[in-house]
Amino acid sequence: MIIIMKPGTSPDQIDQIEDEVRRLGYEPHTIRGAVRTVVACVGDETSHASLEALTSFGTVDRVMPVQRRYKLISRETHPEPTVVQVGTARIGGGDFQLIAGPCSVESREQILETAEQVKAQGATILRGGAFKPRTSPYDFQGLGPAGLVLLREAGDRYGLPVVTEVLRESDVDLVAEHADMLQIGARNSMNYALLERVASAGKPILYKRGLSATIDEWLLGAEYMAKTGNRQIVLCERGIRTYETATRNTLDVSAIAVAKLETSLPVFADPSHAGGRLDILQPLARASLGAGADGLAVEVHRNPPEALSDAAQQMTPAAFSTFIQRLRPFISICGLACKTS
Ligand code: PEP
Ligand code: MN
Repeated sequence: MIIIMKPGTSPDQIDQIEDEVRRLGYEPHTIRGAVRTVVACVGDETSHASLEALTSFGTVDRVMPVQRRYKLISRETHPEPTVVQVGTARIGGGDFQLIAGPCSVESREQILETAEQVKAQGATILRGGAFKPRTSPYDFQGLGPAGLVLLREAGDRYGLPVVTEVLRESDVDLVAEHADMLQIGARNSMNYALLERVASAGKPILYKRGLSATIDEWLLGAEYMAKTGNRQIVLCERGIRTYETATRNTLDVSAIAVAKLETSLPVFADPSHAGGRLDILQPLARASLGAGADGLAVEVHRNPPEALSDAAQQMTPAAFSTFIQRLRPFISICGLACKTS
């Protein structure tokens, strides 16, 4: 951290700040400029008290980090890309990966049929919500444990690893028993106790950005998980809430580029939840790949008008087939190997 003193601070006042810095366990290195003085503080912030409290001194202008606050996931500390292995799918290793499936697991026939179809079109991971975070408590909340069993059965039958959302800490072990990858949904993006509990399960994580999370908050959420020792984290940009109403959320393409630049973690985009519209799914997917995404997560339902959640944004299997065919040239242009059939 560095402490920037206010202009005109006296030597005694600087001494006082240096003493405080030492008291907190850091070594101060003071640079006296013509107008301002800067105190650089050397020490391990993970084992010492925060220096931020020093802003309460009237002589201190700002206390600023010199390093990224996310250390374990940052590219500074890990220049090599992190590869996240989800069953047979290798995410972040240069191969395009495609998560597809319905918003919710609704019945055995629905998930088996959808799994077969998405697999045939080249999906590499099957998705399906068993515990659904719905805006209204009166809407379908998911099949719960029965949904996990059906998702697992579908994944096993068609040779696809499965990802599904965990809503509560008390469900983590159960979901981890059935799924190859655990999803933290946008609404839980800053539920730090859940993040730590999910990461401690040791499975790969699909970590969605919160509806109003800044990029920094999103990456610090990933740092919470990495701190448990589990770095098998895939960041997922799924659109943020802005003033725009033409789309369900605003796909923040820059967040994909920034996350790729700042961290070593693989980054996904979910253009289904970002746009909430089928008619712009293809350009949103292309934009995401152009910004550096390692893969995409999309929603596919065998009969979208009958879907119990997110009916408007789910592709039919036929639309999914067209979607992937049209996308394929862009996948290669963006430098990813496309092994999808
Ligand atoms: C989902 O993937 O089904 C979902 C609820 O996503 P999000 O958390 O991004 O809204
Ligand atoms: Mn959904």
